[in-house]
Amino acid sequence: MSSFIPDAYYKSIFDVNYDKLSNKGIKVLFFDFDNTIIEHDSYSISEKTKKLFKKINNNFIIYVISNSFNSKKLDNICNELKIPCIKRSMKPLGFGYRKVKFKGIKNKEIAMIGDQLLTDIYGANRRGYYSILVDPLKQKTEVVFTKFNRIFENKIFNNKENNIKRGSYYD
Ligand SMILES: [Mg+2]
Repeated sequence: MSSFIPDAYYKSIFDVNYDKLSNKGIKVLFFDFDNTIIEHDSYSISEKTKKLFKKINNNFIIYVISNSFNSKKLDNICNELKIPCIKRSMKPLGFGYRKVKFKGIKNKEIAMIGDQLLTDIYGANRRGYYSILVDPLKQKTEVVFTKFNRIFENKIFNNKENNIKRGSYYD
């Protein structure tokens, strides 16, 4: 089960301790898209989100990596944030991640931030990235595939041996 357990867990992307990540030697940040930086059913981002990305863009190489097929929404938001995006990435598989080549950067200097254990966290852990879970922004409107993933996810959260509890954040 440990490959489904994140290295750190925060409430949202606004709560992530980016200074701590820098100090750990993290140079690259991959962000999941839906329900991590934007609500699944929303088409615009807040000023707060724009501000955050403007700030952390100075300290990290940043990519948005999404399994989403809604390219237009992804393109629009990523353009607005001035962050390159990787579409149809098929997380937890490596196809999307492998589209970016980093020179001289080791996997342990890369962090993945996302809201799903089965795609974002598992995908990051199997590649040796630092994995960071955030709570989903909005669960109600998720697609069927994600709803299915949540059932398995709840099993992980409900298994005491895993030492992870919804809302018990750690880093
Ligand atoms: Mg997501």
